[in-house]
Amino acid sequence: MKVGVVRESFPGERRVAVIPASVAALKKAGLDVVVEPGAGEAAGFDDDAYRQQGATIVASRQEVFDQADVLLQIRAAGANPDEAERDVAALRSGQTLISLCNPLGQPEWMQKLAERGVTVFALELLPRTTRAQSMDVLSSMATVSGYKAVLLAATTLPRMFPMLMTAAGTITPARVFVVGAGVAGLQAIATAKRLGAVVRAYDIRPAAKEEAVSLGAKFVELELETEDAEQKGGYAKEMGEDFYRRQRELMARVLAESDVVITTASVPGKKAPVLITREMVESMAAGSVIVDLAAEQGGNCELTRPNETIVEHGVTILGAVNLPATVPNHASQMYSKNITTFLLHLVQDGAVRIDEQDEITIETLVARDGEVVNARVREMLGLENLAELGEAR
Ligand code: NAD
Repeated sequence: MKVGVVRESFPGERRVAVIPASVAALKKAGLDVVVEPGAGEAAGFDDDAYRQQGATIVASRQEVFDQADVLLQIRAAGANPDEAERDVAALRSGQTLISLCNPLGQPEWMQKLAERGVTVFALELLPRTTRAQSMDVLSSMATVSGYKAVLLAATTLPRMFPMLMTAAGTITPARVFVVGAGVAGLQAIATAKRLGAVVRAYDIRPAAKEEAVSLGAKFVELELETEDAEQKGGYAKEMGEDFYRRQRELMARVLAESDVVITTASVPGKKAPVLITREMVESMAAGSVIVDLAAEQGGNCELTRPNETIVEHGVTILGAVNLPATVPNHASQMYSKNITTFLLHLVQDGAVRIDEQDEITIETLVARDGEVVNARVREMLGLENLAELGEAR
């Protein structure tokens, strides 16, 4: 079986799905690896490094599509909507695609791939279980995003982060507020603490409090009913506009007292909740910075524009998009470890086998045998539930 690795085509993307160090693990499992020339260059991995690990650099991208049985990517289909059309057309029946695909945001791409007979595994759908942790690209990439968000804020803020007592007087520490203490938020807390900031955090999942506090943040208590805010897999539930309005009211004071706000709040498959209004931005001191990590899901701040930096009322709002691509070497290393572990989980006797009893396999499998098979994606496409269809037959 041949595993294909291409140069990512998403605008600004510098990561690569498989780094040379992972090629050895694939070869050990009896798999061959074919790589597009220059695939890892932007992440710091040249063609020779792949060759040294036993991969074959083929003549072109098309050649990878022609030869590969399994294609490993970072952003494919709906996760790369402006560029993926060409790749989808190059895929054929019998091939397997493993990638981030945005199946819940842009399900129509899953239908297109199914129609081409491609077997698709969407890494966004990986269950958040201990067994799946080593394959969890959302977590590893969120870790990179949380780290980088704080660095961006620190370089944008016209003040320093740490408290300094100097002969030139005392510098007070920056006050950082992290909204959403999931994987990215926790890394943001840790990074801001390392830089010496005073950090506060809030999340609607009560379980997040202990984690945020263990990293040195003060947890902001808001009078909100959040006992049932967590759904299966540890994700937050969508709470409804009344709840978010009350949350905004209660958060307003903390926001006005913060120099930096990092927002990460999201609900899988839904638009991100708006937690910061224009009015709230206006209450912040000039020079303050908001880094909105939910920008791609619509933003937690109503003024956010994805991939843009705007200044309103002296407050800088960074619509952060695809931050892991700005740390391409380590982000690729982590992604590569996750995706090759996932692939090796699927492989038996040198080929991809779909074990219908395996939770990791079944939850990530979106298209197979010409059909979209994931229940949530089918529902979004207005297709009948397969289990009900089976009963009717
Ligand atoms: P996410 O990216 O979906 O959301 C980020 C955070 O925003 C979450 O913590 C969420 O609770 C929070 N949020 C949502 N609405 C909010 C609101 N209105 N106000 C404030 N915060 C809000 O989440 P994630 O970072 O991917 O993590 C989700 C969960 O998955 C966490 O419980 C995490 O511990 C768990 N997890 C488990 C594993 C594992 O067991 N293998 C791996 C990774 C994450």
